[in-house]
Amino acid sequence: MPVIVASGNGASALPAGMRILARGGSALDAVEACAKIIEADTTDTSVGRGGKPNVLGEVELDASIVDGTTHRTGAVAALTGYLHPISVARAVMERTPHVFIVGEGAARFAREIGAERTQNLTPSTRKLWVERLRSVGETPSSIRRRTKLLPVVRKTVREERGTVNFLALDRRGDIASAVTTSGWAYKYPGRVGDSPVVGAGNYSDSRYGAAACTGYGELAIRSVTAKTAVDRLAAGMPPDMVARAAIADANELEDAAFNIVVLSPKGVHASATNREGRRYVWMTTQMEEPMLAARIVVRRAARLSRS
Ligand code: ASP
Repeated sequence: MPVIVASGNGASALPAGMRILARGGSALDAVEACAKIIEADTTDTSVGRGGKPNVLGEVELDASIVDGTTHRTGAVAALTGYLHPISVARAVMERTPHVFIVGEGAARFAREIGAERTQNLTPSTRKLWVERLRSVGETPSSIRRRTKLLPVVRKTVREERGTVNFLALDRRGDIASAVTTSGWAYKYPGRVGDSPVVGAGNYSDSRYGAAACTGYGELAIRSVTAKTAVDRLAAGMPPDMVARAAIADANELEDAAFNIVVLSPKGVHASATNREGRRYVWMTTQMEEPMLAARIVVRRAARLSRS
């Protein structure tokens, strides 16, 4: 039975994705359509237009898409000036001999395929950026004149991140996954998180399932979290245990917010986090509305000293 699973901030997009699956559409089309809705929603300050900028006030977007049946993947990172990074990522997958294009090359490719341009920094996110700069004694013009950004970035970046994940299973049993984000607010220019890194923030394999992450992306890169989760599904671990294990791995590295959603080929899903009160969302063709559900909380145990 078709199902879509998402991070909690994907709820508003699920009915549109479900309509695609209900009429026999592909998981790949469903996850792209869902991601586009959140990218265009300026009220989500962690994704697409209205996403928070880097320390220089530029909104750099990361996205990836994985076709779990063919293992074709496409990704873009640090893309500026385009409304739908997920569709540019899909075009990388379908129209180029590559899988990952970043920065100016990604913008050039987006222009070449006629992707929709936009100013992703909105008046309200510009205001938040200016306020954050002010809180560390900087202004938009002073920060642009600086040769050394790192001392400022150390002060501007806090746990202000966010991303949207979509995992879908269609009627044919194909699974696909999409992740899109503006990454870490007020980050160093060019910083790339896990969301566009296939295997870290996003992975699917129609034989075994799919997984995608939100939270401190550096941890997902260091643990290759999404691929490890799918490997655990392949080894027969149930989705809730897989989700728990992913958070336990992250907890071993650092104390930082980290979350995962997991989907099996049978449509069984689970999600875990190391923070209280986080939710994920899912929907099947039988449901009128998406269902928000609690994520399993896996707390970080006090670290034992290794002697
Ligand atoms: N994982 C994203 C990144 O590190 C941010 C987030 O999901 O909070 O870019």
